[in-house]
Amino acid sequence: MTGRACSKVACGRDAIATLTYDYADAMAVLGPLSYRPEPHSYDLCERHAERLSAPQGWQVVRHVVAGASEAV
Ligand SMILES: [Zn+2]
Repeated sequence: MTGRACSKVACGRDAIATLTYDYADAMAVLGPLSYRPEPHSYDLCERHAERLSAPQGWQVVRHVVAGASEAV
């Protein structure tokens, strides 16, 4: 257990991914939950990770497969 919750308002689900904004390259990078909170990063639950949408002109990079219970 990570003990970390989704950072979305009104969402109390467990976070399974961390979203990091790279402002220099206009990229929103979605990766595995980071071990510790980092600046400019947001923890997201599976549902919100799936629905992630980046600002216009931004690129979304996904390093995790939503719904994957095991890394095979
Ligand atoms: Zn959520």
